[in-house]
Parts: sequence; C-alpha cells; structure tokens
Amino acid sequence: MSIGVLKERAHLERRVAMTPTMVPKFRRLGFTVKVEKDAGKDANFSDNMYEQYGAEVEKKSKIWKCDIILKVRIVENDEKKYLKYPKVVISYVNPSMNKEWLEEVANEFPNLTYLAMDQVPRISRAQKLDSLSSMANIGGYRAVMEAFQVFQKCPKPMITAAGKMPPAQVLVMGAGVAGLAAIGYCKNLGCIVFAMDTRSAAKGDAESMGAKFLEVSVKEEGATAGGYSKAMSDEYVKAQRELIKRTTRAVDIIITTALIPGRKAPILIDDELISLMKPGSVIVDMAAEMGGNCTKTQKDEIVVTDNGVSVIGFTDLASRMAPQSSELYANNLFNLLTDMGGAEHFKVDQNDDVVGAMMVVSQGKMTWYVKTPPPAPA
Ligand code: NAD
Repeated sequence: MSIGVLKERAHLERRVAMTPTMVPKFRRLGFTVKVEKDAGKDANFSDNMYEQYGAEVEKKSKIWKCDIILKVRIVENDEKKYLKYPKVVISYVNPSMNKEWLEEVANEFPNLTYLAMDQVPRISRAQKLDSLSSMANIGGYRAVMEAFQVFQKCPKPMITAAGKMPPAQVLVMGAGVAGLAAIGYCKNLGCIVFAMDTRSAAKGDAESMGAKFLEVSVKEEGATAGGYSKAMSDEYVKAQRELIKRTTRAVDIIITTALIPGRKAPILIDDELISLMKPGSVIVDMAAEMGGNCTKTQKDEIVVTDNGVSVIGFTDLASRMAPQSSELYANNLFNLLTDMGGAEHFKVDQNDDVVGAMMVVSQGKMTWYVKTPPPAPA
C-alpha cells in the first residue's frame, strides 16, 4: 500500500505532511512512501534527505496515484480533478468553512474517503494524533515571538544603574493549548501574565503556568459536556467586556486564542477597547483564520491603529516554525495510520469514535454535520 506526500500549494504554507526522519517509521508500518519533488523544500528538507531515509521522490501526477494522500492543507480547487485516484485523503479540512466544497467532492468522487485532521475528537485515546493541539502549542510559542518582534520594550524587569524598568504585562485570552503555551513562554521571559477563559477548568491550568486568572463576575460554564467551548450568553459577554476594558488599559500585549468549534471566532476586543490601549501595545490575534477575536484584525497582516496599537493577524504561526511543526504533524499522522491497522490491516472504520468523527466524505456522501455531537471525553 502506498502513501503519497504532496507539496503544499496554499499561500504562506511551508509545512509538509512527512519529514525525512519519519519515512522509516511509515515504512515499518508496511507502507511505500512517495514524496513529491520539492515537497519539503520550504521546511528545509531536501529531496535527497527523503531518498536517504527510503522515500521515492516523484512528480505530482505519480503521487496522486498512491492509495493514501497525506497533506497539511485541504486539497486546492485546481487539484480537485486528481481526487479520482486515491482511496483516502487526510489533511486539515475546516469543514464548517468548506461544506459546499465537500458536497461537490462527495458527489464527484464516490470512491473517496476524506479524513479531516481538524475533526479529531478530544478524547484521551486520540491525544497522540491530535494535530490541532500540536500545532496550537507551536503557534502559542510563536505568537509570543511575533509580539516581541514588534513590541519595543524588554519583557523582563530590569534594575540598572540608569534606572528601573518594569516587566511587560501580557493578557492571554483563551487559556487552551495555544494560550497555555503563550503563558509559559511569557513567564519564562519574565513578564507579568494575566489570563481569561470561559471554561472553568482553564483557571487551574492557567494558574499552574504562573498566570493570574481574571474571572468574569457572571458565573456561566463555557465548556459543553464534551469539553468543547461554546458561545456565551449576552449577559456574560457584557460582563466579560467590562473586565477586558479594565485590563486593556494596563497591559502591553494581548494574545487572543478564543475559538468555538465549527463557528466564527467570538469578538473580544472591539474598536473602543483598542482605543483605550497604550500606544506601542501589541495584539496578536491567533484566531485570525476563523474571523479573528479583534475587530481590527486583517488576515496575515500587521495593522497599526490610529492610537499606535499593532494588531498582528498572522494565520501561519505554526508554519513559521515549519521543520518542527512538520515533524509533529507527521507524528500525528503516523499515530493515526498505526491505529488504522498499518498497511497490512488498513481499515477505515466509520464505527470507530476517532475515524468516524474525522470522516467528512465517504461513499459519495458529505459526512460532516455541525449537529453531530462529538464523543464525550473518556
Ligand atoms: P480552542 O483552540 O478551541 O479554543 C481556545 C480557548 O479559547 C479555549 O480554552 C476556549 O475555552 C477559549 N474560549 C472560547 N471562547 C472564549 C471567550 N469568549 N473568551 C475567552 N476564552 C474563550 O481550544 P483548545 O486550546 O484546542 O483546547 C481547549 C481544551 O480542550 C483544553 O482544556 C485542552 O486541554 C482540551 N483538549 C483536550 C484534548 C484531548 O484530550 N485529546 C485535545 C485538545 C484539547
């Protein structure tokens, strides 16, 4: 059974679904590994390196004829015609934004199974193949690097003969995987860090990383029974905005990561709140790809507002650390294909909690539905 790894063609995407050192691991599972020419170039992996580790380097048309296609981003529209070849394609899909595309693909290619890496359920068994977490971890770290690239002061306190300098004050909104990584890195840099989140469980997580957790006066649980975050009531949103308003005046950097599965990101920082921030402050909006948590966010740009606040809307944070994020993503895929039986016993089992949740196209049907509840945590 063959695995084909394509070069990513999406704007700003530098990652690749397989790294050279991962090739032997997939081969030990019984797969032949074929990699498109230059697939790893943007992540600093040469064709030679892939060949040294046992992959075959081929042109695109041959890769598409493999049984399983591994990608990072959803198949590009102008590549759709190739979906007549593979049995299984695995990549990020973002189904809530691509529902019509999935319906078209399902109609046109009845033999295709498409598995979405962004639909891996949050159950303990699936942690090892949860690439949203592995990428969020890297993204949170990179967000801090990007913030201090723009922020013109030192992160840690300084006591010098010429005077004292206070540490930078950072607010992290959304203390999930990305937020916790950002908190950890900011603490290491010597910043004072505040955090907020709608899930009550996030308080302990944020505090264990050294952040001061800011609690909204209205008590409302932000997690569903399955552990996913949900949209909050108007009363909560109003009270949360008051809390943010008090905090934005004081902090130097805000990192926002708030996401609600299957929906546009909630707006947490509007124009009025930005106008209260100090000149030179920085916002990194990690939710930019899903519409953003800040009204001034522009995808993949740094916007400087009239009052001198820089709003960073990069959607390629993990991709900016492409060698390591590719390695982690390839590991997530390896764990998935191991659980699916390797080459010898390979099976797409739609009754499996994990594979069933990831399946967005199968047997001529679009099989992703917003209303399908995710499995409860084990
Ligand atoms: P996410 O990326 O979907 O969202 C980021 C954070 O934003 C979440 O913590 C969410 O609660 C928060 N948020 C949403 N709306 C908000 C609002 N209006 N204001 C402030 N914060 C808001 O979430 P994530 O980082 O992927 O993970 C969230 C939780 O799920 C974490 O506890 C994580 O440990 C857990 N998780 C478990 C597994 C697993 O067991 N396999 C995998 C991934 C995540």
